[in-house]
Amino acid sequence: MKKSARWIDYGHGVSCIDTELFRSGLASCYLMIDGDEAAFIDTGTRNSLPLLMQVLSAHGVSPGQVRWVMPTHVHLDHAGGAGALMQQLPNATLLIHERGAAHMINPEKLQAGSLAVYGEARYEAAFGSLVPVPASRVQVVHDGDNIRLGLRELAIIDTPGHARHHYVVWDRKSRGLFCGDSFGVSYPELNDGIRPFIFPPSTPVQFDPSAWHSTINRLMEFNPACVYLTHFGKHENVAELAADLHTQIDAYVRMVQAFDGVSDSEDLASLLMQHSVDELASRRSRHDAGDIRRLLSGDMDLNAQGLLHWIRRGRAA
Ligand SMILES: [Zn+2]
Repeated sequence: MKKSARWIDYGHGVSCIDTELFRSGLASCYLMIDGDEAAFIDTGTRNSLPLLMQVLSAHGVSPGQVRWVMPTHVHLDHAGGAGALMQQLPNATLLIHERGAAHMINPEKLQAGSLAVYGEARYEAAFGSLVPVPASRVQVVHDGDNIRLGLRELAIIDTPGHARHHYVVWDRKSRGLFCGDSFGVSYPELNDGIRPFIFPPSTPVQFDPSAWHSTINRLMEFNPACVYLTHFGKHENVAELAADLHTQIDAYVRMVQAFDGVSDSEDLASLLMQHSVDELASRRSRHDAGDIRRLLSGDMDLNAQGLLHWIRRGRAA
């Protein structure tokens, strides 16, 4: 059966599309429309493609009007569908961080790396084989670049911390930052307590806590009215989220530093999960531990792997 797309229109020509990775409400991407031009910021996976095309057509935009495809970084929940999407958009150019460009043109290494992180079964179900993007359709972007879409200007910000191939898009019109993973993960369904719940996706293999703290500070200098998170949706309590994200990055670092059984990422994943359960309890979330474990198990597995990779790299250096 054909799945129908779920999306939210936020105004200013910005729509958040659920890319339906693993479950609803986990990953999104954004469609931005200005005048007679459109852009996708992040792309979801190859399986998300029909959903993106549905939302485009629901807004009366033809594939030929899409000018930019902008994966914030080359992790597959953000860029896995980029190649297949580009094939549907005859006039689009892919805008990508200089450290990510080669992986979009020749995705073999990216595919192998992601297979190692997700495991074969989960990888195949979610991502499948990646479609390369022809080099002639790829444009590298740098910190400070301005991109035109219709009448608006989008600024590119280099944002290491989650990954070194990550950029964020500043949209003056909505005073919003399209953050990919650089402003953490905050699922609306877990924000039912007295404070929102946010955590850093410390995914392998380029987690860098000190760079990440600087990135958050730099993003806050734009004085954003909102952040558009890939995981998940638009959030307006930006200062509160920034403060909590700083705190959580430090908590993660302390946990992996104190973690002695460094051979087993499953042990660390359960430690991180317990931390999340406690944090949500302190916020008086209505979700019970079983619910939280179900919603966050994939995230905590990746976070444990990334933290262990980071601390071992530090020790080896
Ligand atoms: Zn992500």
